[in-house]
Amino acid sequence: MTSHDLEMSGRATPPQATELSALTNAALSGDAWLDRYAGALMTTFGRPARVLVRGEGCYVWDADGKRYLDLLGGLAVNSLGHAHPLLTSAITAQLATLGHVSNFFASGPQIALAERLIDLVGGSTARVFFTNSGAEANETAFKMARRTGRSKIVAAEGGFHGRTMGALALTGKPSIRAAFEPMPPGVVHVPYGDAAALADAVDADTAAVVLEPIQGEAGVRVPPAGYLAAAREITDRRGTLLVLDEVQTGVGRTGEWFAFHRTGVVPDVVTVAKGLGGGIPIGACVGIGPAAGLLGPGSHGTTFGGNPVAAAAGLAVLHAIERDGLLANVRQVGKRLRTDVPAHPLLAGLRGEGLLLAIELTEPVADKVAQAALDAGFIVNAVAAAAIRLAPPLILTDHQAQEFLGALPGILDVARKE
Ligand code: PLP
Repeated sequence: MTSHDLEMSGRATPPQATELSALTNAALSGDAWLDRYAGALMTTFGRPARVLVRGEGCYVWDADGKRYLDLLGGLAVNSLGHAHPLLTSAITAQLATLGHVSNFFASGPQIALAERLIDLVGGSTARVFFTNSGAEANETAFKMARRTGRSKIVAAEGGFHGRTMGALALTGKPSIRAAFEPMPPGVVHVPYGDAAALADAVDADTAAVVLEPIQGEAGVRVPPAGYLAAAREITDRRGTLLVLDEVQTGVGRTGEWFAFHRTGVVPDVVTVAKGLGGGIPIGACVGIGPAAGLLGPGSHGTTFGGNPVAAAAGLAVLHAIERDGLLANVRQVGKRLRTDVPAHPLLAGLRGEGLLLAIELTEPVADKVAQAALDAGFIVNAVAAAAIRLAPPLILTDHQAQEFLGALPGILDVARKE
């Protein structure tokens, strides 16, 4: 950490005090780090926009000392922002007590987090399988579907469920599947939000319907009212599992614990990840009712899933959301962003729920807007050609939302000129 960083943060002492800190805290410029990045990492993500060195609350700092308001939250992950004291102390204390156990053994955090998730999902008949990511949570759901003895799975066009082969097969984006064919068989895709198309596709051999309550990666696409209820009715009629992928929408992101809570629908399976660990990798596949018993002994496994440190992180995140009234904060600040968005020729409107929002643009210049925002000190995401995604920490304040809204017209002007 440079003295400049310290000055910016108002901290008296650097947060890292180990002998390893020299490996990562070298006073390199962003460009020097990115040269090293290019020589060390695969090219899957392209050239990163910046190298970030630290964060605090809703702000992060890059290697050149510039501060940003983080309106993306590590892609809907940093629910409590950066360096949250409760999360930091929970994982530190757990690591200092018991960092890992094999799955021949259980741990208190693993059991307590599973109980808490069951409680939040709202079904005492539910059971949890922990994973390390969203893709793995969906792989688990995929295997549960196979265990029904039926062969077909219906998912949605534009849906995103992860990059592992099963999750990729569920993903409704042919462009990212094509290079990896053949996919695990049996998955068909129907237009998202179209209940009639779903009803046509689901038959007596359909094991599961897999849907996001709001399609995140597709550009924060909100389905028509009643779509999930229709999906429930269709799947009930056929004895088909309804799997809701809440990897992006879950854990308070939309202002409810889970987005499906807004609909009154009870799914058979819910997958969770991203925001659950607040930055520590953890995911979960929750089976409700009979679905909870689909994976029996020996049918599935993981070395790290439900690791005590990751589970302690999950418990800390859920505790802070409840203790600090963050669901209400998400609703309030999300509403503020939606209602106070300034008029501008490039702005078509805002869509989404809570703090999962997309700013709709009148022209396909989202890349330019994201770049102009970054230059102005705001991290946002060009989720589609004409849409900017916001998925900030759930602790974002009204004041910080206003900070962004105040800067937005200038950002859009810059993007328009380029
Ligand atoms: N499901 C949804 C809805 C997602 O948005 C994502 C990631 O963006 C995933 C699954 C995959 O999660 P992960 O990247 O943790 O594997």
